[in-house]
Amino acid sequence: MSKFTDITDNKKIKDLLNREKNLIRFGLMTYMLPIQGAASNKVMIDNQELLMLGSYSYLGLVNHPEIIAAAHEAIDKYGSGAGGVRLLTGTADIHEELEKKISDFKKTESAIVYSSGYVTNMTLISTLFGKDDLIVIDKYDHQSIYDGCILSKADWKRFNHNDIGDLEKVLDEHRSNYKRVLVVVDGVYSMDGDIASMPEIIEVAKQYDSFTMVDEAHALGTIGPNGRGVDDYFDLKPGSVDIYMGTLSKAIPSIGGYLAAKKEVISYLKFTSNAFVFSAALPPVCAAVALKAFEIIENDKDLIRTLQKNYTHFIKGVQELGYDTLKSKDTPIVPVIIGDDTKTFRFAKKMKKEGILVPPIVYPAVPMEAGRLRCCVMATHSEEEVDYILETMEKIGKSMKVI
Ligand code: PMP
Repeated sequence: MSKFTDITDNKKIKDLLNREKNLIRFGLMTYMLPIQGAASNKVMIDNQELLMLGSYSYLGLVNHPEIIAAAHEAIDKYGSGAGGVRLLTGTADIHEELEKKISDFKKTESAIVYSSGYVTNMTLISTLFGKDDLIVIDKYDHQSIYDGCILSKADWKRFNHNDIGDLEKVLDEHRSNYKRVLVVVDGVYSMDGDIASMPEIIEVAKQYDSFTMVDEAHALGTIGPNGRGVDDYFDLKPGSVDIYMGTLSKAIPSIGGYLAAKKEVISYLKFTSNAFVFSAALPPVCAAVALKAFEIIENDKDLIRTLQKNYTHFIKGVQELGYDTLKSKDTPIVPVIIGDDTKTFRFAKKMKKEGILVPPIVYPAVPMEAGRLRCCVMATHSEEEVDYILETMEKIGKSMKVI
């Protein structure tokens, strides 16, 4: 029998703990700073007011008065939790209203809601696909898609990021070995802020008799003239993608995830997907908040227009300063490449000192030496705030010789 060791006696764990210790030692820790209030365009951290440049609440709905009112009303009506799994006794009328709203919004036959976006991807892929199937994913797809592939027991292959030629190559080489093939992409990529080339992806998938799925976590409420995501952006026919996935935790300021697809798929998932059958339902208050947010997006077109005006202004500004922003275009996620880990952390720290909170993203989340500030622009940023951010990035960038 082997001798007992400490549970953290493992290289991976030790390396991570050392990295954390160094960040704290050099005063570079900008992760997990507790926000004392709503995560809106301005936040309080350690009693300092900071401009938020890293929130997923792209439309700034997180403390919108109608959202707050909907939450209060739902708490009064439903209490705090669902008290069960959706299949058995956890379904409330508001869940069904939300699902109807999502299927109308995405122009599909039906929709299903889960209590986390992460779990939504995992459960979909592992419920609908398995042995004999192939999942083909973009190399930069979200971790939950990777985890879904692993859980599914299907074979899976990656293609180079948004490289249609490579997708075609993978399908050409492997399609004939499998019964069913699913191609999964993110609508908007969360680290690079670029948009999947959906029309070409759909065409190639069709050519190889494969299904398509798009994760619209960062596309919903942010791209397309009406904020409806990739269909809206590319002016695609509704239902051009077999499965639309989205989260309720970003432009929609709640928690949860959804799938929108044809009704037989959704009915099957309701009886068989583990996250629906074995995990507690989304609290009704979260469903009420999400429902209200969809209504606001539908009714207040200015909100989308303002977000789009803000990110267009910001992207142009950082590019004119000479920063590398990769291929980000037309989305609120703007990666600003800084370089190695230390430089990226130091840049973020200087930004904080100037009153701006922006997350540094480093290896292994992104390639080595491609450390970046992941800037997320919001509809609720004023033009003056965006200009102040740009001025500050110019000052720091020049002083650190990044630009
Ligand atoms: N997909 C993508 C592309 C994401 O960025 C995220 C979370 N950041 C998720 C899925 C998971 O969603 P959630 O955080 O709502 O669980």
